Amino acid sequence: MKPVSKIAEAVRASTTLAVDSLAKQMKADGYDVVGFGTGEPDFQTPENINLAGIEAIRAGKTKYTPSAGIIPLRKAIAEQLKSEGLDYDYTQIVVASGAKHSLFIALSALTDPGDEIILPAPYWVSYYEMIKMTGGVPVVVSAGEDQNFKITAQQLEAAVTNKTKCVIFNNPSNPTGMLYSRDELKALVDVCVKHDLYIIADEIYYKLVYDGLEFTSIASFGDDVKERTLLINGVSKSYAMTGWRVGYCASNKQLAKIMSNYLSHSTGAPSTISQWAAVEAISGPQDTVETMRLEFLKRRDYIVDRINAIPGVSCVKPEGAFYVMMNIEKLIGRTLGSKLIENDDDFAVALLEMALVAVVPCSGFGAKNFVRWSYAASMENIEKGLNRLEKFISE
Ligand code: PMP
Ligand code: GLU
Repeated sequence: MKPVSKIAEAVRASTTLAVDSLAKQMKADGYDVVGFGTGEPDFQTPENINLAGIEAIRAGKTKYTPSAGIIPLRKAIAEQLKSEGLDYDYTQIVVASGAKHSLFIALSALTDPGDEIILPAPYWVSYYEMIKMTGGVPVVVSAGEDQNFKITAQQLEAAVTNKTKCVIFNNPSNPTGMLYSRDELKALVDVCVKHDLYIIADEIYYKLVYDGLEFTSIASFGDDVKERTLLINGVSKSYAMTGWRVGYCASNKQLAKIMSNYLSHSTGAPSTISQWAAVEAISGPQDTVETMRLEFLKRRDYIVDRINAIPGVSCVKPEGAFYVMMNIEKLIGRTLGSKLIENDDDFAVALLEMALVAVVPCSGFGAKNFVRWSYAASMENIEKGLNRLEKFISE
């Protein structure tokens, strides 16, 4: 048989989803696994949003919609952005099946074969694969723990070539949980403007910021920056709606049209029912967002204190999202249980198999010798998981 697509064959499975499936499989097989693998709020979708979905079904809102999404949802998103100081017409908002899919069509809209896309590391695993899937070349710029996992403008400048098309920023970041300040972003954005680069700004965790720190949207740095920015967001994280699959991209009109065309030939549009539920999420009462944020904050403080009290591992305190990167460098070369730990993959497998705790190795995120904990898990499970980690390492 003829070979399959080389591009497709080179795509690796998502490590976040792989860990989640493995943990779920082990649970189904009767193991008492505690999962910190996937970044999915453990809260129920708020009831007003559920009811909006049910009401949509009852009202017969179950047919195809325009490919870029229903107008009430696009208008609700534009209104929300306006209330946050970002002026977009609803025709500039393109709704897709999750922020993941929005990112995919954003990259498809920008990338010609061989275009370089700059990706700050540690990065969310799917960016790297999506760049390859859309024919681009990922150019990784790494920031270690010593720089709080944030790249500098000098590093960005050094990575730009005449093939660079775009930079992806994820703020607050998955997996690091770190937040770029307004000044830090300004310096990075200036480099993008200087070299005429597009910016994909994934701000899906923007409502989850702690310690009184202020979130700045990249699109807020003036018209020149806004024109070149593809702002990605969605309802999954802010409203505990991961399974509803609604995300969006706000961009200039040319790009919005291109993305809408892509959608019209691929998914069509996200589920109509989910879109109506998302209208309620975005324009209905917002109090649950803050309730969830405060709960995540408590969990963050607990998990960070516990990790830093366990000899052999450590972490810096994340400022947003719901992830923490645990440094396991000191465990490399040690035998835990019966397993020699040579890297973060070994550690994650050993922790899962021997201590029944699922975390994600960060080599898939472009950072060696770290594992990522998602603290979108109940306090009870967080406590249980950390007790198991402590016991596992000390034995
Ligand atoms: N961006 C980042 C940084 C994420 O962590 C996620 C989590 N899945 C997504 C985008 C995609 O979210 P969704 O497709 O559920 O909207
Ligand atoms: N973004 C989440 C994570 O990093 C959800 C899983 C995924 O879509 O990759 O775990």
